[in-house]
Amino acid sequence: MKIDTHVHTNYCPHGSNDKMENYVRRAIELGIKKMTFTEHAPLPIVDTVPTKDSAMDEKDIYEYLKEVKGLQAKYSRKIEINAGFEVDYIEGFEQETRLFLEKYPETIKNSILSVHFLKLPDETYFCIDYSKDSFIQKGEELGYQTLYSIYEKTMEKALSEPFGTMTPKKIGHINLIHKFQKAYEHQDTINWIKLLKMTKNNSYTLDYNFAGLDKSFYGKTYPNEEIISEALHLDLKLETGSDAHKPEEVGRHFIEREE
Ligand SMILES: [Zn+2]
Ligand SMILES: [Zn+2]
Repeated sequence: MKIDTHVHTNYCPHGSNDKMENYVRRAIELGIKKMTFTEHAPLPIVDTVPTKDSAMDEKDIYEYLKEVKGLQAKYSRKIEINAGFEVDYIEGFEQETRLFLEKYPETIKNSILSVHFLKLPDETYFCIDYSKDSFIQKGEELGYQTLYSIYEKTMEKALSEPFGTMTPKKIGHINLIHKFQKAYEHQDTINWIKLLKMTKNNSYTLDYNFAGLDKSFYGKTYPNEEIISEALHLDLKLETGSDAHKPEEVGRHFIEREE
């Protein structure tokens, strides 16, 4: 069955202004049978990217969830629509994140847990996917090995049910740390098999995310093929997601593959 379980909306300040309904229409056009909106949940930290636009605003949540409900009802005969969030795992803010999730328990089963922010040794938070230049600057300053090791440790924590029973059990783009990999030299020493075993043992699924194919310094899916083949060995479940930030991106790249 064609599904797209990672879709953003106009509630995200770095997305487009197109209405959510346009995403639904596009999905129906493509024959998608199930679509999940996963807007970036409000951050428990002050956004550290220069544009301050990483996530949605808490005051918009009510409207966001209400709009999904309206679309669910309107299109129920054509497509299943779900409401979730893309929740950040931010080290040191587990309590705050858990409190947020406790307010919207019905969204947890549709939500994605992602690591975009790393807690650095100086206690500041660094967004790994904001821009190539900021990633390279940080890599040169701290060493790529340091960034990769912190990412690995942070991912291990994200995979250890950091919010207890409130933890979303799907990991977003597990190797997002590779997003700018063509722009620098570094030998990746992350133990991916260990991370996948944790994914398995703690009953998470994997976001099979096609946004990476459109990133000029990456050009692959998340996870990449090597990680996918290990994941399949372990019998892990992958769910396709476009990570669309505009309607045209719904179902990107995987719809053709499934024809
Ligand atoms: Zn986004
Ligand atoms: Zn996303």
